Amino acid sequence: MRAVPALEHAASRARLTALPPLAAGALVAALDLLFPALCPVCGAPCGPGRRDPLCGACWAGIPRIEPPCCDACGLPLWRPLRVAAAPPGGDGAGDGGAPERVSSPADECPPPPVFCPRCEARRPAYDWGRAAARYEGPLREALHALKFGGRRALARPLADLLLEQCGAGLPADVTAVVPVPLARDRERARGFNQAGLIAERVARRLGLPLERRWLARVRATAPQSELAAEERRTNVRGAFRAAPDVRGRHVLLVDDVLTTGATLSECARAAAAAGAARVGVLTVARVL
Ligand SMILES: [Zn+2]
Ligand SMILES: [Zn+2]
Repeated sequence: MRAVPALEHAASRARLTALPPLAAGALVAALDLLFPALCPVCGAPCGPGRRDPLCGACWAGIPRIEPPCCDACGLPLWRPLRVAAAPPGGDGAGDGGAPERVSSPADECPPPPVFCPRCEARRPAYDWGRAAARYEGPLREALHALKFGGRRALARPLADLLLEQCGAGLPADVTAVVPVPLARDRERARGFNQAGLIAERVARRLGLPLERRWLARVRATAPQSELAAEERRTNVRGAFRAAPDVRGRHVLLVDDVLTTGATLSECARAAAAAGAARVGVLTVARVL
């Protein structure tokens, strides 16, 4: 489908940030007069707070995942992380009140890892994972518009969302960013890999190399969206192979959506089998 002129200009606006701020602002204002920028998700004019090509309302309406999260898979945890410690020497009973937390040198140590019940029972194949937001509302629509509507300019705000929500907690020793590959015929039909577009910007902003060839699909798989959880695991088993370059590296896998984690786990298994030292996972959205 051919993009309408307003959308093409939305993409042009995204490139204008290479100009000095004043010049870029004046050009965006002039373009807006000629071709009002319309949000590819809701169709409204982009307006204040916009993150081109997303309008301000859709950007603000993305249901972001906030900490505390499971240290293994990034699932948001709703229960308090730590209970107050019992007073030294006491049994915690008697006065009926909540025991007061007593400060100690141990408080200065990093808190111990916390895991969701699923990871407590069985850790995922990757070492750590984070997602920026829930796969709902405007984010779901934006990812559909990117993947199935060919609105590539959306990769920019979605990668920014990922870094704004998850960038601060990233391990310092990550070596390279690797997008989850699409099947070759699917990428050819679509013309691009949405995970690749997002990973490209993530890598650039983190100052890390983007390594598209470190992970490949070695056999065709049925679309995961049509399968139940157990079928998804079977469907992708052995579907990926990692290049020997991953040996000894801390690899950061990037994908658009985490549903059951079957695909990302299989990618992590392939990287580990090829000798990766650690594998982390970042996804823009997560199904909850
Ligand atoms: Zn919108
Ligand atoms: Zn977990």
